[in-house]
Amino acid sequence: MIRFTEVDMGAFLEISTSIPCILNCFYCPQNVLKESYRSTIKELSYDNFILAIDKIPQKSVVTWSAFNEPFQNNDTIDMILYAYKKGHCVQVNTTLVGLTLEKYRRIKDLPFGHFGIHLPDTEGKTVIPLTDQYLELLEYIVDDPPQGVNFSYHEGKAHSAISHLVKDSHKLIIHNRCGLLKEGRRDDHPNVVKCGQQFLFTNVDGGCVLLPNGDCVTCCQSFNMKEYLGNLFVQSWDEIKEKIKLTDMCRLCRYAIEDGKKK
Ligand code: SF4
Ligand code: SF4
Repeated sequence: MIRFTEVDMGAFLEISTSIPCILNCFYCPQNVLKESYRSTIKELSYDNFILAIDKIPQKSVVTWSAFNEPFQNNDTIDMILYAYKKGHCVQVNTTLVGLTLEKYRRIKDLPFGHFGIHLPDTEGKTVIPLTDQYLELLEYIVDDPPQGVNFSYHEGKAHSAISHLVKDSHKLIIHNRCGLLKEGRRDDHPNVVKCGQQFLFTNVDGGCVLLPNGDCVTCCQSFNMKEYLGNLFVQSWDEIKEKIKLTDMCRLCRYAIEDGKKK
């Protein structure tokens, strides 16, 4: 089993497997994303994923999350298996929409660094259809969880349809996505020096988000695509890496860390 420590991590690459997301959660600026992402390539293909992943440094962290539900893309399971076999640490954030029991069994024994499961809540902020298939899958995962599992919800409490299944979950803060949403917590960090996520400077080889067409943007807050770094299908990781920096957006971000302060 591959184990990772902070000192030997390469880069941090977060993957958006499809644009737009099939869901439309209350706290997610999908409208901004749809306006900004003009490419006709809406799905990341397995072949293009390999093209990109073969360029990143060894022992990187690869996370399926960013701007869509990862499992809406049918190739995500194969992408995860490929990245793991290449020696990268794999992570997921998902609502489970698009995942099936059969697919889950293919990946459940991998040593995930993090497997975040976003649950439906009593206020309907996270829009997950409560089908029999979803409930059966969730129950199975609770009984046989992956390494690194973490259950969370976004408002009120965990929905009554699932609260008897998941005993241990926590509430996440809804924030205004660096000012892209009217709702949610507002942040202002005039003296930001560091990203509290892994996008900037945490990993020795930098980090960013990969989009289905190969474009790279600064982080999971870059819904408006303004923080463009390059295209990993046609450029090297070093060329992308040299563009990575703090941006104006960081000042408005809940993950920003100011000089002398903790996250
Ligand atoms: S929060 Fe996640 S699942 Fe919900 S719309 Fe945004 S990307 Fe999709
Ligand atoms: S906006 Fe800046 S501080 Fe916030 S997650 Fe992105 S890179 Fe990190």
